[in-house]
Amino acid sequence: MIEAEGPMPLDRYMSLCLGHPQHGYYMTRDPFGAAGDFTTAPEISQVFGEMIGVWCVNAWMSLGQPSPFALVEMGPGRGTLMADLLRAAKAAPEFLKAVDVHFVEMSPVLQKLQREKLDAHATWHASLESLPNMPTLFIANEFFDALPVQQFEMRSGQSFERYVGVSNGQLKMGLVASSWPGGADGVYEVSQVSQNIAAEMKERIEACGGAALIIDYGHVQSAAGDTVQAMHRHKYCSILDAPGEVDITSHVDFSKLSSSPTLSQGSFLKAMGIVMRTEKLAEKLDGEEKKNFLAATHRLIDAAQMGELFKVMCVVQKGATQIYPFEAT
Ligand code: SAH
Repeated sequence: MIEAEGPMPLDRYMSLCLGHPQHGYYMTRDPFGAAGDFTTAPEISQVFGEMIGVWCVNAWMSLGQPSPFALVEMGPGRGTLMADLLRAAKAAPEFLKAVDVHFVEMSPVLQKLQREKLDAHATWHASLESLPNMPTLFIANEFFDALPVQQFEMRSGQSFERYVGVSNGQLKMGLVASSWPGGADGVYEVSQVSQNIAAEMKERIEACGGAALIIDYGHVQSAAGDTVQAMHRHKYCSILDAPGEVDITSHVDFSKLSSSPTLSQGSFLKAMGIVMRTEKLAEKLDGEEKKNFLAATHRLIDAAQMGELFKVMCVVQKGATQIYPFEAT
């Protein structure tokens, strides 16, 4: 396409690499776990999804127990988080009676895995438009980091956009003059798609009632810097290597999604009782199995691992009180 049409902006490149119907990374494979390219929190331990389940039940109660209501997961991967969430919610039969599960997922391969996992007890959507109009709890874990970003570069006060072109048969990054109103010299990332999707989620919450829990790695305050990265078999590589064959993500700029309160993943999970739950489950294990299970929880909450880099944001409908463990800002 670049040879035929010329260099393309980074966001278009990223969007094609991940979502092209035939060649897109997510469209053609199951990328998760030890045998894949990267591992996400729900794949690390069942307690992650369980804690989200406890949060959802309490959120639903705080919102006045709407019945029916939609539980919408954005980019559910293998469907593991939802399976763990619904199992934990068995403690609240009224919640399970009221819930209507929906998935927003672009990948047919992953949709199939999700169907198998959930025994088809859900409705699938390619985008938010077709979601039902009812009170909604949104969950998004490592969804926004997979959405395309533009990169702008300020050099001596001049504004440029980063494009992907071809030179001597190789993909190369280049700069194209831009009218982006930049700041100090440096690289700035803008994800229009993320901002649009966050805005759609908020509109739905305002119109129908509800809340959203957004979990991802990234920063709470906007900062300059190139955070776009590629991963293959658990190792970093160039985003220009093997387009469509490697995962490409970027750090999420939470302040651009919403000004809602944010906690570190470690604080959030601890407040939801992850340590107690882990100890309880570990009683039934021993040896290597017990060691690995405890290490998995540690990986999720430890500040040097996922505990601080990952953030959790909670958006609630206007006028509703914030949902535990978040506090109004
Ligand atoms: N939440 C899962 C998977 C994270 S990977 C987990 O934590 O394991 C990103 C997920 O988002 C994948 O399921 C991918 O197919 C989906 N996805 C990426 N971009 C999307 C888009 N634009 N629309 C819908 N789904 C998308």
